[in-house]
Amino acid sequence: MVDAPRAPADPAGQQRSADAAEHRRRIGAELARLFGSDWMEIPAGPGVSNADRERATLGAMRAGARFIWNAALPRDPVGGRRGRIDLLVRANEGYLPVLVVRHKVTDPGTGARTSPLSDPQPTGSRSDPLRKVRAQPRDQLRLVHTRALLQACGQAAIGRATGGAIGLDADVVLWHDLEAPTWPGGRTAVAEYESRFGDRLAIADAAAAQAQPLAQPSRIMDCRSCPWWPVCEHALTEARDVSLVVRGEDATALRALGIRTVDELAALNPATPPPGVPPGLLLADAVVLAKAWLANLLVVRRVLEPDVPRADVEVDVDMESFGESGAYLWGAQLSGPGIDEPAGYRAFVTWDPLPTRDEARSFAEFWRWLSNVASRAHAAGHTFRAYCYNELAENRWLLGSADRFAGEPGVPGRREVQKFIDSDAWVDMFRIVSDTFLCAKGKGLKTIAPVAGFHWRDAEASGENSMRWYRDAVGLDGDPVRLDQRQRLLAYNEDDVRATQTLREWMSSPAIRDVPYIGDL
Ligand code: SF4
Repeated sequence: MVDAPRAPADPAGQQRSADAAEHRRRIGAELARLFGSDWMEIPAGPGVSNADRERATLGAMRAGARFIWNAALPRDPVGGRRGRIDLLVRANEGYLPVLVVRHKVTDPGTGARTSPLSDPQPTGSRSDPLRKVRAQPRDQLRLVHTRALLQACGQAAIGRATGGAIGLDADVVLWHDLEAPTWPGGRTAVAEYESRFGDRLAIADAAAAQAQPLAQPSRIMDCRSCPWWPVCEHALTEARDVSLVVRGEDATALRALGIRTVDELAALNPATPPPGVPPGLLLADAVVLAKAWLANLLVVRRVLEPDVPRADVEVDVDMESFGESGAYLWGAQLSGPGIDEPAGYRAFVTWDPLPTRDEARSFAEFWRWLSNVASRAHAAGHTFRAYCYNELAENRWLLGSADRFAGEPGVPGRREVQKFIDSDAWVDMFRIVSDTFLCAKGKGLKTIAPVAGFHWRDAEASGENSMRWYRDAVGLDGDPVRLDQRQRLLAYNEDDVRATQTLREWMSSPAIRDVPYIGDL
């Protein structure tokens, strides 16, 4: 597959990796300060090969270093493993692995085994009165993997398999007992790892030997950001695979019933489902989606007449955020008469690189403008509504901005924002689209708005690309600021709000009857 075409790297994933690397750097610096001469860091970067790092790590372990940061374990020639770990801690005549991760590793509760950062040893741990373990299966599997590498080079700590994790809050080390039967079916992390690793080796061995493949693609959520999607999409489309129209777990269950293709699914009679259909699967919808896919239809109407709440004065809203760093742009498109405010698009934006306090200023200006429009509409005897597409993101940053910038000039209180969110004036078009249509290729705005006749001016418009443009627009990588990318982002945001407007106007018009009705398929 070396020469197979791959999708470009997912910028959201790249940003998460960069944030995680920064988090690790910060924790590493803090620990280095705490442990002084007991701290050893394995060099990395240009000019340092993996083999160099593996040799340095082995040397440090043989020398008995107390803490080894940024370790690269020697390859395991027998087991076929390789890997790195943030921290190795000397304990019980060997080493314990510790991960530094940028997600939560505990929840409020009791009973997690934790030790302070200043004493990152299981012997210094206690049953935490304020935290319970958040399982984080991937962390546990990574720890078992590192332990296997340590065993392979004779450097694993003696005793029960144990590994640590320093999470987002970075205030304690959580210790996982990797031999505790905490996994489904009473399995342990060690047993789960061995089973999964064995599977992966078998799949890789079969591929290397060009034998019958032991793994086949099946569309799941991860496909969206997977570089292999062009390969898998081609294979799935060729096979007319059932996962193209139902969720991953439903596809697995349907295959087990012998329903492997979209054609076989479309041929089912939902009134007489075969025994064993997964309980969560809405078979009638799945059959219609299969028929729509076969007929090359993007959408099918579930209802005769969509119910789209409209108003005299209408505002379409779209927010642009950058990872977890903040919401840098609130775009709004005003339509409707009589409030002495020009119709059209306006942007409330900060171009200071996030995170920045200037975000409070742009958010406050947006909120003030929106509240003013609503008040003036009501004062003039008009109805008012604001629309977005998938309120989860907007609501998160509306409430989050009220919390983060509480007390800043013009920033509304959380209660005021929540009242607006709960009101009839805030309409989520994504929910209405979900109630109105079955969509064979997803319900994203970029998929559904073109059905309503809307097209983005920028052929490369996408959420992923907007993250790249933002980096350039504020010079995030140390490069010069690119003003053209700011204009591009503004145009992209304007098109997003105009897309929502076009969509709801189309759904309220007679043209909606041209969309095939579910009962007619
Ligand atoms: S099936 Fe999806 S997640 Fe798996 S390799 Fe293919 S594209 Fe990636």
